[in-house]
Amino acid sequence: MAWFCSGTTNAELINNLWNAGLIKNERVKRAMLGVDRDHYAPSSPYSDSPQPIGYGATISAPHMHGHACEYLINHLRPGSRVLDIGSGSGYLTHVLANLITDSSSPSTDSDGHVVGIDHIQELVDLAQTNMSKSEDGRNFLKSGKVEFVTGDGRLGWKERGPYDAIHVGAAAASIHPTLVEQLRAPGRLFIPVESEPKEDAFSQFGMGGQYIWVVDKKADGSVHKEKVFAVNYVPLTDAPSKRM
Ligand code: SAH
Repeated sequence: MAWFCSGTTNAELINNLWNAGLIKNERVKRAMLGVDRDHYAPSSPYSDSPQPIGYGATISAPHMHGHACEYLINHLRPGSRVLDIGSGSGYLTHVLANLITDSSSPSTDSDGHVVGIDHIQELVDLAQTNMSKSEDGRNFLKSGKVEFVTGDGRLGWKERGPYDAIHVGAAAASIHPTLVEQLRAPGRLFIPVESEPKEDAFSQFGMGGQYIWVVDKKADGSVHKEKVFAVNYVPLTDAPSKRM
């Protein structure tokens, strides 16, 4: 169904996702309207599909970016601290930054920021280049609201935590306890996780054995994990030791 949401402009794409019910939250819609995918997707920017961005990475489909934001929305407020693991193109990092600087929510804290982390230096550079294509993006980088760093996202990024929201954009082998540790209480982690083969009821239909898990750390520090839907992400891996 998602393919039919593709548009010829950014606004048309986002409005199609909205009309199809794939984005339901007004704030998410506004945040996505505020980022031109043309700055992040090298070809067919307004297609509702994942696309290669080089180095074995893909920019996820816009409806997946929308879902990720909607699952995290209650933890994306002015002042929120956010970690985007496997930031790749930088698109979602930009949308997340829009959500924590949303002028319709009362601003309580100037401390909010988004860290995008990727283990491929060239993709970190690409994300910065992409974000620099718009004035808003340049302001985010200049003010330090958004920072792209190079590192192994499985270890999180302790320096700027704890985080209200952590998004993982590549499939993990498990729910890494380090990431749960770096959540604020309350805070939420959105993470695709490879399932054990025996759990994988969908693999025979070619859907892959990965599921999004939503992990909530409650205000009292207790942790609740929920498996929400089947997905197909590139894996969260060791950094390539040598590239051409
Ligand atoms: N959210 C991004 C998704 C990019 S694809 C987007 O829509 O553009 C997944 C990304 O995860 C790739 O950029 C890949 O380099 C990165 N990645 C894979 N393993 C990683 C790891 N261990 N640490 C950090 N980044 C990782």
